[in-house]
Amino acid sequence: MLIDLHCHTKVMSPCSALTPDALVRAAIARGLDGVCITEHDALWPAAEIARVADEMQFLVLRGMEVTTEVGHVLVFGMDYHDPAMAVLSELQRIVRGEGALMFLAHPSRRYGTLPPDDLSFVFDSVEVQNGTEGMLQNDNAAGLARGLRLPGIGGSDAHSVREVGICATEFSGSVTDEASFVAALRAGEYRARRV
Ligand SMILES: [Zn+2]
Ligand SMILES: [Zn+2]
Repeated sequence: MLIDLHCHTKVMSPCSALTPDALVRAAIARGLDGVCITEHDALWPAAEIARVADEMQFLVLRGMEVTTEVGHVLVFGMDYHDPAMAVLSELQRIVRGEGALMFLAHPSRRYGTLPPDDLSFVFDSVEVQNGTEGMLQNDNAAGLARGLRLPGIGGSDAHSVREVGICATEFSGSVTDEASFVAALRAGEYRARRV
């Protein structure tokens, strides 16, 4: 199953032009099997995600892209956002406490503070295919993913229709809901793809 793990909608990411309906229609046109909405520092309520999925008859999942001092972090398996997550050490504490997963997004981008040299102390893995990054940046990210606990993930980082599904993550098993999504991520049963 091919799922775009990194999408923004205008519902909670003001920088995005995408409505949830437009996101899903673009994903279907691209041949994807699902999308994961990862807003900036905000998490969709489960009931709202379920409503969109039901209306569009399509797999719609949720995560979030948390802004920290070392960069953006894609988090999956959380059911709330906490402003304290803006500090990487706090994000790590909360994510570990909840049994969720965290991936450094577009790791080649530089922010105010550099991430730790050994990413494995903090992250489960990194995003190795990001639709807004160049090949060199994604190749560099793939290098960073080696030695981490999990394979690198892929997502478009879409903020507009034409960006949806440029990159995605291919799961070898069936993903039908948030529980099976997080379980498949934790098991490493996937690979990143540029579509
Ligand atoms: Zn980002
Ligand atoms: Zn993003």
